[in-house]
Amino acid sequence: MLGRRYLQNPFPDFVPGEGQTAVSDKQIKSLIKLYVETILEKYDTVADERGDLYVGDAGVSLMFWKLYKSEHTRPMFPDALKQAVAFMSTAKEKCKPYLKRSSERFSFVCGNAGIYAVSAAISMAVEDTKTMANDLAVFKTGMPASLEKMHTKTGCDGFMVGRAGYLSGCYWLNKVLGHKVISDDDVISICQMIIASGREYSKIRKSPSPLAYLHHGTQYLGAAHGMCGIFHMLLDSPWFRTIPISAPKDVLLDIKISIDLFVELQDSVGNFPVSMEDLLTGRDPERRLVHWCHGAPGAVYMLAKAYLIFNEEKYLNAIRLASDLVWNRGVLRKGPGICHGVASGGYVFLLLFRLTNEMMYHYRALKFMELLINPIFQGEARMPDRPYSLFEGVAGTVCFLIDLLDPDQASFPFMDAFH
Ligand SMILES: [Zn+2]
Repeated sequence: MLGRRYLQNPFPDFVPGEGQTAVSDKQIKSLIKLYVETILEKYDTVADERGDLYVGDAGVSLMFWKLYKSEHTRPMFPDALKQAVAFMSTAKEKCKPYLKRSSERFSFVCGNAGIYAVSAAISMAVEDTKTMANDLAVFKTGMPASLEKMHTKTGCDGFMVGRAGYLSGCYWLNKVLGHKVISDDDVISICQMIIASGREYSKIRKSPSPLAYLHHGTQYLGAAHGMCGIFHMLLDSPWFRTIPISAPKDVLLDIKISIDLFVELQDSVGNFPVSMEDLLTGRDPERRLVHWCHGAPGAVYMLAKAYLIFNEEKYLNAIRLASDLVWNRGVLRKGPGICHGVASGGYVFLLLFRLTNEMMYHYRALKFMELLINPIFQGEARMPDRPYSLFEGVAGTVCFLIDLLDPDQASFPFMDAFH
C-alpha cells in the first residue's frame, strides 16, 4: 500500500516448541561494532548546535557510557569511557549559553538537565569528583526552576522538556550514583506541582480526566510530550514505592482514574490516539503512529509501571496488545532509532519479556534486531535527519542492542519500569 509508514514484517511469528532460529550474541555484537564505528566515522558534531540527549553529543556520550557499563561490550570497546568524556565535553561547551535560562535548567531530554545528569555519571566512572560535584550542582538548579511557575497554558510537565523529564533524571541519578542525590521531599514537591498543574488544566478544559496536560497547544497522550510520560514519572515517585502506597488519597485517586481513562482509549489493534484532539476529530485509527514518541510503543512503560504497582491484568493485557501491534506494524520506514524507528518497537518486546518471561517476546525482540540487517528493510528504510544520534539514530539502536545481550536488565533510556 502506497504511503504506508511501515513495511510488512518479513518474519513468521513465534510458535511454541518450534525451535525457531534467531540471531546470536555474536551477530548482535558485530552489529554493535559496525554502528559504533560508523558513529565515530560519520557523526557530525558541527551539525549539532545544542549538545542535548535527544539528537546531540550528550546522547552519543550516553551510548559510550553504556558500552563501558555493560560487561558484554566493555572488552570490545576499551576506549568507550574516553569517548564518553570527549562527547560530553563538547556537549557541555554547546549548552553553556543556555545555563541561565530557567526552563532549560529542568529540561531533560532536550535540555541542560539531561546533559549534566549524564555528565555526573561519567564523572563518577572516571573518578573525577570535582567535575561530578559541579555537574550535580548544575543539575540541581533545575529543582527551583521546575517549581517556579505553573505554565499551565504552554505546558511544562512533559518528559522531553518538562517536569516529568526532570523527575526521570532524578530517579536515574539516584540509581546510577548509588545514593540519594535528590531527596524524596524534593521529588515529591515536583510531583505536587505536576498534580496541581494537571488539575488546573483539567478544570480549564472540563476534561473527564482529573489530570490533563498541554504541550504547545495540544493535549498529547504519549510518552514524549504527553500523559504517559507524566503518569509514568508520578508512578515512579516515592509515593508509590511504599507498601501500602503513601500518596495522599485524593492524589492516588486522580492518578488512577486518569490512567484508567487513558487505557480505555486503546483501539482494537492495540494503539492509542496521539492526542485528545486526534481522538475528537475522529482521525482514521489506521493512520495512528506506532512510535515511542506517539502511540502504544511509548505508552507501554507507564502501563508496565501501573501493572507492577496496581497488579491489575488489564494493564498487562494492554501491553500485550501493543506488542502485537508493534509486531505487525512496527517495521517502520523511519529507520532504526528508538524514538520513531525499529528499536522503539524492539524495546517493547524487551519490556514484555522482563514482565512475563515468555519466550515469544524474546524471540520478537531478536527478530527486530534481525530486521536491522535485513536487506529489504535496509533498502526501504529512510535515513533519519540525525542518523547517529541517541533518539533518532543508531546511538539509541546500540543501546537497544546492548540491552538485547542482557534482557533481564533491559530498559528504554530513562524510562525504567522496574527500578
Ligand atoms: Zn519520535
